[in-house]
Amino acid sequence: MERTYEALQLEEDLKKALEREEFRLYYQPKLDLVTGKIIGVEALIRWEHPERGLIPPLEFIPLAEETGFIIPIGEWVLRTACLQNKAWEDAGYLPLLMAVNLSARQLYQPNFVERVKIILKETNRPPESLIFEITERIMLDAFHAPRVIKELKSIGVQISLDDFGTGFNSLHYLQELPIDLIKIDQSFVRNCSTDLNNENIVKSTIEMAHRLKMGVIAEGVETKAQLIFLQQNLCNMGQGYLFSKPLPAKDLVKYFHTIEQVIIRDGIPQEKNKQIWTQEMVEHTRQELRETVRMQQGMIFKFTEEKGKFIHTFCDGKLLYRMGLTPEHVIGKELRDIHPITVAEEQAKYYQKAWKGGENVSFEGEINGIYYISSLSPIRRGGVVTEVIGYSVDITEQKRVEEALRLKESQYRIITENTQDLIRIMNTNNMLEYASPSHELILGYPPEAYVGHKVFDLMHPDDSTRIQKQYAEMVLSKKPIQTEYRLKHANGAWIDFDEIATPVLDDNGEVRQFVIVARDISERK
Ligand code: C2E
Ligand code: MG
Ligand code: MG
Repeated sequence: MERTYEALQLEEDLKKALEREEFRLYYQPKLDLVTGKIIGVEALIRWEHPERGLIPPLEFIPLAEETGFIIPIGEWVLRTACLQNKAWEDAGYLPLLMAVNLSARQLYQPNFVERVKIILKETNRPPESLIFEITERIMLDAFHAPRVIKELKSIGVQISLDDFGTGFNSLHYLQELPIDLIKIDQSFVRNCSTDLNNENIVKSTIEMAHRLKMGVIAEGVETKAQLIFLQQNLCNMGQGYLFSKPLPAKDLVKYFHTIEQVIIRDGIPQEKNKQIWTQEMVEHTRQELRETVRMQQGMIFKFTEEKGKFIHTFCDGKLLYRMGLTPEHVIGKELRDIHPITVAEEQAKYYQKAWKGGENVSFEGEINGIYYISSLSPIRRGGVVTEVIGYSVDITEQKRVEEALRLKESQYRIITENTQDLIRIMNTNNMLEYASPSHELILGYPPEAYVGHKVFDLMHPDDSTRIQKQYAEMVLSKKPIQTEYRLKHANGAWIDFDEIATPVLDDNGEVRQFVIVARDISERK
């Protein structure tokens, strides 16, 4: 009975808390674990209750969410945090990244993104100075919430995934949402330097964040041991009581310098720290290179000679996977492990040539229906070839097109070479551009004798004027015609022909050429 009364009372008080100005924002610094500098703060709300004193957020935020008061409270938090950030900047402090926690209800507030934009404008803050901390609990549905978050991101505000690792879907959100910063939950950080499982979880989370090109911050850092563990494992940032509890704005400023001494004093020495990061950068560059090679369309491989055999020492690229292979199929293997023996022997000749120092060695091949062309170039160390690097590109599509073209051409050739009809191509000036081999059989002159000439030269004088007229009309009508005429055989005899001439149109619909098929009809006559 009493509890319910208390709860009701709290709700009553919460209603009035905003207008009575009982909310306070405390700020907890976030530190760069390499430089030890404060690079941002998280705004955390407290309620200064007239009777109960300072109430922590977890005791009233759930109620505020339930009742919907979180909407005006959330706006107050955002505006106050932005104003404070502006005030610090005006007072000459370096620009800080302001982190503000979001509740699910706020994402479902109509025009939430619009409201954020307005508040940023009113408080004169660039969107880059703001980072929203969201948790998985915010994702009440799979459509609306992600859409709002993407919209926020698109206006330039950053997004941080809070309490990472405590929900069910953390990994899903990492690929679904535009996350800038992963915040490792304090429950993992707490035991990271004492419990092997926690240690591994924290390490893997940091590594994953780096691979995904996201920043990573550890929350709840309380001890020196945790700090050192995080530094050694390349966590970018830290937040926790070791550095500072959440403080009212004026106190934070007061302790600013002291807070920035903590890492210099308790962390691993600067020089050592830089060294660890340099190693990481080198490893990162290597990793990036490997990924680039893997993601490129072609394929890169290397081989060297061992006891008279060419052994592949490297192979990767999308082409390899298209061939149905993986690096394991190639690396440490010879050509004969990959190809049938005849192909292997053939390709080995090219390998040999490049190994002997030959430049511009290239050859074609096929694996599992994928055609490729490879070019090899020797790499010399101290004037001696120590390995050969090869680059392959996929030519399957070209091969397919070429093959189709070749097939078509051979079919045309079969037709034109074996037909008993006369086939010709004629331009609009009545000049012949092509005459089929059948001309020789039927008229006695080889086809070359016709090309570049007008067919009228061989036509019976009684037919030629009529045919010229018909051709001229066809240029205008653009319709095929059928006609008859006589042509002179090499032996002087006249042969009767029946002809169909078809105009060929260009892209503008104008006659470009004529295709003519003429048949010897002297028998019929
Ligand atoms: P959070 O966002 O995960 O904030 C971190 C909490 O851990 C804060 O508790 C902070 O005071 C506490 N903390 C920081 N460093 C340490 C440490 O070294 N050790 C330990 N044990 N705790 C540490 P706080 O301020 O009580 O806030 C609790 C939660 O309330 C926050 O969790 C956040 O989810 C929510 N919250 C706070 N302010 C707001 C707000 O303005 N809006 C909304 N929607 N939620 C808020
Ligand atoms: Mg938070
Ligand atoms: Mg948290």
